[in-house]
Amino acid sequence: MNPPASDRPDPRTADSLELQNLPRGQIHRLHIELMQDGLGAPVHLPVLVARGRKPGPVFGLTAAVHGNELNGIPLIQRLFGKLDVEKLKGTVVGVLAVNVPGLRERRRHLVEGRDLNHLMPGRADGNVGQVFAHRLIDRIINRFNFLIDLHTASFGRVNSLYIRANMDEEATARIAVLMRPQIILHNPASDRTLRGAAMDLGIPSITVEIGNPQRFHSDYIKKALTGVRAVMANVGMVAKRKLVLGAQPVLCQSSDWLYTDRGGLLEVFPKVTDQLEKGALIAQLRNAFGDVIREYHAPETGVVIGKSVNPVGYTGARILHLGIPSPVENAFTQKLTTQRLLLGDALVHSSQRLPRRDLEPDNRNADASGPPPSA
Ligand SMILES: [Zn+2]
Repeated sequence: MNPPASDRPDPRTADSLELQNLPRGQIHRLHIELMQDGLGAPVHLPVLVARGRKPGPVFGLTAAVHGNELNGIPLIQRLFGKLDVEKLKGTVVGVLAVNVPGLRERRRHLVEGRDLNHLMPGRADGNVGQVFAHRLIDRIINRFNFLIDLHTASFGRVNSLYIRANMDEEATARIAVLMRPQIILHNPASDRTLRGAAMDLGIPSITVEIGNPQRFHSDYIKKALTGVRAVMANVGMVAKRKLVLGAQPVLCQSSDWLYTDRGGLLEVFPKVTDQLEKGALIAQLRNAFGDVIREYHAPETGVVIGKSVNPVGYTGARILHLGIPSPVENAFTQKLTTQRLLLGDALVHSSQRLPRRDLEPDNRNADASGPPPSA
C-alpha cells in the first residue's frame, strides 16, 4: 500500500536524466529543469523513474507534449502505482508533462503559438521552442530504448483510440500491435514530431491518441494502460500474463482529413470507428438561418479515425479524419498479419466486417470542452 502523501519524498531537482545516479530497486521523483521563464523561475518537468532491481531496457512514456492533452498523465500515474521494482527488469521513465508552459495555460502550444511537436529535434541555439525541443531530446529522450508518446485529439475534435506508427519498422509495428488500439494508422513520421525525432535516433516510437483534450477519459486510459502493460510483458520487463484480446484494430495504410469549402455551422454524422462506404453522407453545413448550404460525402471507403465536434467553422474547417484500411492482399498487410499472428492476434481488413467496438465514447453532438460522456 502506498504511504500517505506526507511520507513521500519531495522530487529531486536535476537538469538532465542521469539514470546511473538513480539507485536500482526504487521509484524516483524528479523535477528536470529544462529552461527558465521570464522571471527566472525554473520550468520543471515532473518525471517518474522506476529503476527495476534487474537490468533491462529503458522504456519512456511522454505525456502532454501538447499542453491540453492530458490523458497520458493519469495513465503514467496508474502505471507507476502498480509497478513492483523488485520484479521489474529495466527502467520505466514517465515524463508526466512535457509541455509545462502549455499545460499551465490549458493550451496546446508551448509559447508564442509554437507547436512543440513540429519543432523536433530542435536546436541548441534556437528560439524558445527549438531550445526546449533540443533539451528535451538531449537531456531525457535519448536515454530511451523505446518510446510511447501519449496524445489526445485536438480541441473541438474527438478521436478513436488510435496509434500512428511506422509499420514498416518491425519493433515499432510490434509495439503498435501489442497496444491493441481501435485503429492503427501507418505513418512514417517525417513531420518534425517527437516520434519522428526519436525514430531518427533509432528509438522505436509510436504516438497514441487517447480520447479528447482537457479531460480525463477513464475508459480510454484504462484500455491504453492495458496495452502499455502488454508491451512491457512482451519485451520481458514484467512477467507475461494471459493476453486478454480486445477488439482487433483496423490497420490503415493512409488517411485524409476532409475540410469544408465554405464557412457555416457544421454537423458531422458518423461516430468515430464507424466504417463508411464511398459516397456516404458524412456532414451537413448550414447558414445562420438554418438552410443546408453544403452536404459532404465520403470520397472513398474508410473508417472514421476522428471528427470535428465544433459546429462553428470558417471555410476550410476540419470535418472528419478518414482512415483508408489496408486491403488484405497488400504485401504490407501480409507482413503485418504474420507479425500479428505471432502475437496471437489478428488484424481487421477492409473486406471483413468490423467487430463491435468495446469503446463507444463518441457522441456526435458532444462538445469537446463539455463534460465527459456518461459511462
Ligand atoms: Zn497532440
